[in-house]
Amino acid sequence: MTHLAPDLLDRFRAIVGPKGWTSDPTDLAPHLVEWRDLYQGATPLLLKPASTEEVAAIVKLASETGTKLVPQGGNTSLVGGGIPFDTNDEIIVSLTRMNRVRAIDVLNDTITVDAGCVLQQVQNAAREAGRLYPMSIGSEGSCTIGGNLSTNAGGNAVLRYGNSRDLVLGLEVVLADGRIWNGLRGLRKDNTGYDLKDLFIGAEGTLGIITGAVLKLYPLPKAYGTAFTAVPSPQAAIELLSLAKDLSGGAVTGFELLPRIGLDFVVKHTPSCQDPIADRHPWYVLMELSAQRDDGSIDAVLESLLEQGLERGLVLDAAIAQSEAQRAAFWKIREAMSGAQKPEGGSIKCDISVPVSSMPAFIEKATKAVEAVIPGVRIVAFGHIGDGNVHFNPSQPVDWKREDFLARWDEVSTIIHDIAHGFNGSISAEHGLGRMKVDEITHYKSALEIELMQRIKRDFDPNNILNPGKVVRV
Ligand SMILES: Cc1cc2nc3c(=O)[nH]c(=O)nc-3n(C[C@H](O)[C@H](O)[C@H](O)COP(=O)(O)OP(=O)(O)OC[C@H]3O[C@@H](n4cnc5c(N)ncnc54)[C@H](O)[C@@H]3O)c2cc1C
Repeated sequence: MTHLAPDLLDRFRAIVGPKGWTSDPTDLAPHLVEWRDLYQGATPLLLKPASTEEVAAIVKLASETGTKLVPQGGNTSLVGGGIPFDTNDEIIVSLTRMNRVRAIDVLNDTITVDAGCVLQQVQNAAREAGRLYPMSIGSEGSCTIGGNLSTNAGGNAVLRYGNSRDLVLGLEVVLADGRIWNGLRGLRKDNTGYDLKDLFIGAEGTLGIITGAVLKLYPLPKAYGTAFTAVPSPQAAIELLSLAKDLSGGAVTGFELLPRIGLDFVVKHTPSCQDPIADRHPWYVLMELSAQRDDGSIDAVLESLLEQGLERGLVLDAAIAQSEAQRAAFWKIREAMSGAQKPEGGSIKCDISVPVSSMPAFIEKATKAVEAVIPGVRIVAFGHIGDGNVHFNPSQPVDWKREDFLARWDEVSTIIHDIAHGFNGSISAEHGLGRMKVDEITHYKSALEIELMQRIKRDFDPNNILNPGKVVRV
């Protein structure tokens, strides 16, 4: 049962018309569970507005009636940010019907899109115009631009192009009182006071609902050099990264760390994935360079880099992708790593960042600390080491029950987060806080920072109707 009155729900339904809502439990089900099954929610109503004006009318009515709203895009968040609580009194506002590419300005290198566009759709539209929208993440077939911006998503090309925040020039946002802020500017220079768009980016829907964005485009790379590289240690990996940056003149696009145990899980559970290198090694790096010229120069740089890496003991072996299919196969291994932990039982997920130079010491210290409290635990530390970010995900010991292992989540994640914090790191590098870390973050940010966040939230959303209970409590 919901506390929301039937006539109030009817008023929301009337704003979007018959195609724009559902209360059917079967239709609602996929919107109420998080990708990893960690959070379940309840709602009496899901609204699918078709325009910014409809979003504005929904938020205005919510503001007048004190109704809580949960914005949702592709629902691929990993921290429960887009899932309502189980109180059954929050309405989901899904942006997925707002999926128009509004404009492409090739000479300004910008694309203007509705917030509900799926990332892959935007990548494709940019490519058709001869441009690159460089955001690249495993969920790109389902996640939306609004979700990417609201979580300040990172992904596989941050090293070269930055994270979501770096890819936005302008935003259109429906504010908590229903007014529309049109900040859809395609300017690379605009020093006219506070940068308001930066407040909404990474706010996980707690300050406003993003309805449109002007995004940056780049020239399409003409050639890639991709190597699946065996390295002796994370320390060797970051030294190889430094060498790659020196030798390639800024061409390093992706640099992903993969541990042997993670590769074992992928090969075991993903039938289409094979080990690219015959011998077994402790660590691997998936390294990608990209270039604007297809004259073989990127291959020469990659070969020279691997040779020098071998001479310095940073590289043990390497397989270079000889075709687009092989390149895709290497990336498939990387993308399968998270999912391949599922069949191995319980897995505790920590998305941490530390300075790149501290990453080897972090991995060593955190591994020892977790092994000390759970002997037999299998540490899968993988991901964007080039950005100083790994997903440090302990998998349960083979002979444990999943629920017994997951019952240790808070204890284990606190150990890992304390160590990351000790290296001046972050407990959420790219996934956000959502409901998962809303309380934990108060141990790691200063009281002053939390107070400033609360003041911003209270000012932008005085009735606390936008995704309450996520990111910061007020
Ligand atoms: C297989 C897989 C791989 C992933 N890889 C990465 C990765 O490499 N890097 C990375 O950063 N993340 C990654 N993610 C996490 C996730 O895909 C991103 O956080 C993504 O940006 C979420 O987009 P979404 O549209 O699914 O948002 P949702 O999950 O629907 O929402 C995320 C948050 O944003 C809010 N929100 C959504 N739309 C709006 C809007 N229009 N206005 C205001 N608030 C809104 C929601 O309320 C919620 O708090 C991965 C997830 C999966 C499942």
